[in-house]
Amino acid sequence: MPSNIFRPHFPFFSNTQSEPYVYLDSAATSQKLQLVIDITQQYYQERSVNVHRSSHHLAASVTEQFEQSRSTIQQFIGAKSHKEIVWTKGATESINLVASGLANNYFKAGDRIVVSALEHHANIVPWQQIAEALDLKLDVMPVDPHGVLKLQASLDLISDNTALVAIGHVSNALGNINPIEALIAKAKKVGALTFIDGTQAVSHLAVNVQQLDCDFYVFSGHKMFGPTGMGVLYGKYALLEQLPPYQLGGEMIQQVSFAKTTFQPPPLKFEAGTPNIAGVLGLARASEFIQVHRNSMIEHEHNLYQALLATLLAIPKVKLWGDNNNSICVQSFTVQGVNPYDLAVLLDKRNIAVRVGDHCAMPLMSALDIDGTIRVSLAAYNNLEEINIFGHALIECIGLLTEPNTQIVTENNVLKHKQGELAPIAESIKQAKGWDQTYRQLMLAGKNLVRLPQQYKTATTAVQGCESQVWIRCYLDADKLVLEGDSPSKIVRGLLAVVFEALSGKTAKQVLAFNLADYLAELHLAKHLSQSRGNGLSAVVGKINEYCQSHSL
Ligand code: PMP
Repeated sequence: MPSNIFRPHFPFFSNTQSEPYVYLDSAATSQKLQLVIDITQQYYQERSVNVHRSSHHLAASVTEQFEQSRSTIQQFIGAKSHKEIVWTKGATESINLVASGLANNYFKAGDRIVVSALEHHANIVPWQQIAEALDLKLDVMPVDPHGVLKLQASLDLISDNTALVAIGHVSNALGNINPIEALIAKAKKVGALTFIDGTQAVSHLAVNVQQLDCDFYVFSGHKMFGPTGMGVLYGKYALLEQLPPYQLGGEMIQQVSFAKTTFQPPPLKFEAGTPNIAGVLGLARASEFIQVHRNSMIEHEHNLYQALLATLLAIPKVKLWGDNNNSICVQSFTVQGVNPYDLAVLLDKRNIAVRVGDHCAMPLMSALDIDGTIRVSLAAYNNLEEINIFGHALIECIGLLTEPNTQIVTENNVLKHKQGELAPIAESIKQAKGWDQTYRQLMLAGKNLVRLPQQYKTATTAVQGCESQVWIRCYLDADKLVLEGDSPSKIVRGLLAVVFEALSGKTAKQVLAFNLADYLAELHLAKHLSQSRGNGLSAVVGKINEYCQSHSL
């Protein structure tokens, strides 16, 4: 696979050269730089000492490197002082730290918190909980039908009663770059604090928090080629001083006596306990790498994104979401008449990793009136050939999912086969060679499913724990189990048909005595199912068993 100048810095790709693995899920987590791995390993192998505590020379040297890393991050985001950089375990912790601190002493009755409809749950739930606890109003900046923030309506929401505006710099679900400059300016006018979730921005855009003049800016290390379990909270120093500590313990204190305890000034005030030292060193390396290569990365990512857009736009029935003219190299899409989960499963079988679902942005999916999208998220290490491979695979998978197919004939899903013989659907799956045929047969099998009428698709029939929506209804007809079910996913409908074929027509006692695990193993199904699909199937079987248990006496 042809390379680019960034790719050799990421060992992930050299490991998979024999069997190409097209990684298009960098917004979930990016691949890690060799530089990051090296410094992390070096710390654990050669310099594993604590920081800020021991006085021996190795501890002093690592403490200096640890504190120097704060200055590296300060430069990376253009902060005024290294004292404004707080180490956390990720963006989620950074958000919770600020939210719980502000909840303690900042808000007053009548205040309103403004968030956007595009937010990751991490930048919704903490604010929502505070609003509930303190009886404040949570206002939601709206999006248009494509998922683009409605700027004027959003600006209009920010009023004299607004105490805080919290918004992502870039939407993780759609890739849109939000107009945070205008929102920050309006928030300042009304005296509101501004909280920016930069988790999806920092590895793609040059960020300068002083120019932005935001009050808080947060991000995670693992989405910028750095370590997991490592994040940053930037806050203006005066504000950090006012926030109470988040956790209490060693290193964040100045003096402890049973009469009184005093705390360190920021940032140490927020860093109780032994920090993720290797993570801090790794994150600093990652940010240096990005800073050195920033311009060429932006140019390369732009080219990749244009190629991705052209590929998607050329495929009929593909609908793109978000603002394609103002986006990082992330694109969400759906395909008319095709379930996104099914598509992602088939792409995965072709070694193409994309993300499917609500992307931890359920309110956004509700606003767009969709269950989820497929998200392709690129990074500087991707290349044009991968987009080409993805494009061809996508066309093939859509073809497979939309091809007209005939039905396997069974009699009302009732298992009618002789002792020792498999039922028709099961037999067709068992005969299938490889995952491609297996999935084809599963989709054919789905056509045999006795579909659940719409009025029965309720919370009672919904199966919890499945990737896609699934409903099943069980009842006994003259002692024999009848099963009906449905799912928007063709593959899930196929799996339901397999299970229903095996269990329908049995008495509750017979169902409980039936070894479904062995039955499915005989069909070689388990090895072709992702873990989440496997878990979903277990949830379905669990629901049927529950019903049979309560009706087996
Ligand atoms: N905000 C955004 C925009 C994100 O994309 C994510 C991660 N998907 C988070 C917050 C949470 O980050 P983490 O899980 O690293 O704490």
